[in-house]
Amino acid sequence: MPRLSEVIAALDALWPPDRAEGWDAVGTVCGDPDQDVSRVLFAVDPVGEVADEAVRLGADLLVTHHPLYLRGTTTVAASTFKGRVVHTLIKNDVALHVAHTNADTADPGVSDALAGALDLRVVRPLVPDPTDPAGRRGLGRVCALEHPLTVREFAARAAERLPATAQGVRVAGDPDALVRTVAVSGGSGDSLFDAVRAAGVDAFLTADLRHHPASEARAHDPRTPLALFDAAHWATEWPWCELAAAQLDEISDRHGWDLRVHVSKTVTDPWTAHAASTTTDHPGAPN
Ligand SMILES: [Zn+2]
Repeated sequence: MPRLSEVIAALDALWPPDRAEGWDAVGTVCGDPDQDVSRVLFAVDPVGEVADEAVRLGADLLVTHHPLYLRGTTTVAASTFKGRVVHTLIKNDVALHVAHTNADTADPGVSDALAGALDLRVVRPLVPDPTDPAGRRGLGRVCALEHPLTVREFAARAAERLPATAQGVRVAGDPDALVRTVAVSGGSGDSLFDAVRAAGVDAFLTADLRHHPASEARAHDPRTPLALFDAAHWATEWPWCELAAAQLDEISDRHGWDLRVHVSKTVTDPWTAHAASTTTDHPGAPN
């Protein structure tokens, strides 16, 4: 049975912490390097429900994409929700390790997993990491469809292939326009519009698109309209958990570690319901 330090070393080889953004907070949040690890749980968010799930499962290590603490803190008192998570984990001998922007830009990384879930062929990173001579690491991915789909069909595929959330998939664009190439970025992607336009793709699928960046991107050039697909943040990053679990499984097999590796099924998207508009007394209302 491996020690935590050995498992963390393997995870750091997949997602080197020094490749995280300067503002990010990745690495081990809690855990004794000498403790044994037999069961590992991957999840997007280190929230209370997920910490409880790790305990129920008997996990020794929880690996999440989002950091628990992004900024410094002066308390881990259990009266705060983050402190409660720390208490739950430490009392039950569960270590917490975070791979965030270092997993986003990895090869394979978060957006490769998203592209895989959508059955897309990855062509290149959307924003390549200049330190990667192979040109495979970086933020987002530019992808191609083996067979073009309409905007309507592509939205239906995303809604079917990504894990279910209350939000579903929001769409901007002519439903009958063809999608041959698409940029994808797991998580909040509206800082990437310049790269998306430069890539000349038919569509962009990401999460957390805001009004102004989205409407400006749509209006940019009417001759080359860009279709937008906005899925729930959690849903666009969850496929990475399955990819990461498979990577750790493979490492475990290679080392004879016999780890039990799980992926959390807890939906941690904060939005819990969606009410479609039903009023008919304004322009453009459904009828
Ligand atoms: Zn995220």
